[in-house]
Amino acid sequence: MKNNLVTEDYRYNRYCNISFVLSEKKERFSEFFRASHPRTSNFYKYISPRKSVENRMFREIYNNRCVYCGVSTQVLPASLFEVDHFLSQSECVKHSIANVNYIDNLVSSCSMCNRGKSNYSCSSEYVDLLHPDKNQYPVVFKRDKRYNLEIKEIYQNNTDVVELFRVLKFDNELRRIDYLIMELKDFCKIYPEDSLVCQIKDIIEPIEQHRRDNSI
Ligand SMILES: [Zn+2]
Repeated sequence: MKNNLVTEDYRYNRYCNISFVLSEKKERFSEFFRASHPRTSNFYKYISPRKSVENRMFREIYNNRCVYCGVSTQVLPASLFEVDHFLSQSECVKHSIANVNYIDNLVSSCSMCNRGKSNYSCSSEYVDLLHPDKNQYPVVFKRDKRYNLEIKEIYQNNTDVVELFRVLKFDNELRRIDYLIMELKDFCKIYPEDSLVCQIKDIIEPIEQHRRDNSI
């Protein structure tokens, strides 16, 4: 378990040390998909319907979290998670990527992140750095002790990073609230017998209500 308040990856907290290293899980899913749908390379068509088996499996690859902001189904209903094209159709053309709907271009995202970045444009130089599956986001972004998301110093003058931070609305207050709710819930899971837990659960409820009232 993490002891420091600020973890190495801004998407998880000290009571929940999950992994965003996806390569093997995604490869196994691709093998399953190809066996099930040998005649298509349009992964999106099968993964995007929320009730499909492929959608459930895909979200599980990402621990039922948004790969950008880290929000999980602890905070948002599964219906608010979407299959995001990391690069849009026009961006794929720009970067000579043939199939926008191929598995490599798809990630699990909350609707707030997905819709925010819909027209995001990235220079070729930074496609690898900013593709969430490469797991470089903890190198680029951090969370401070007041739970604010920030760009790490080394990337603060990088226009691609600054623009991504802006379109993802990482400075929105909801990002801090989501993190707080997840941290409190993860604490309650770890110490279920602690007398404090009942009191903490009472505290979580009004915070969640505030979150629901301010959803965008
Ligand atoms: Zn998100």
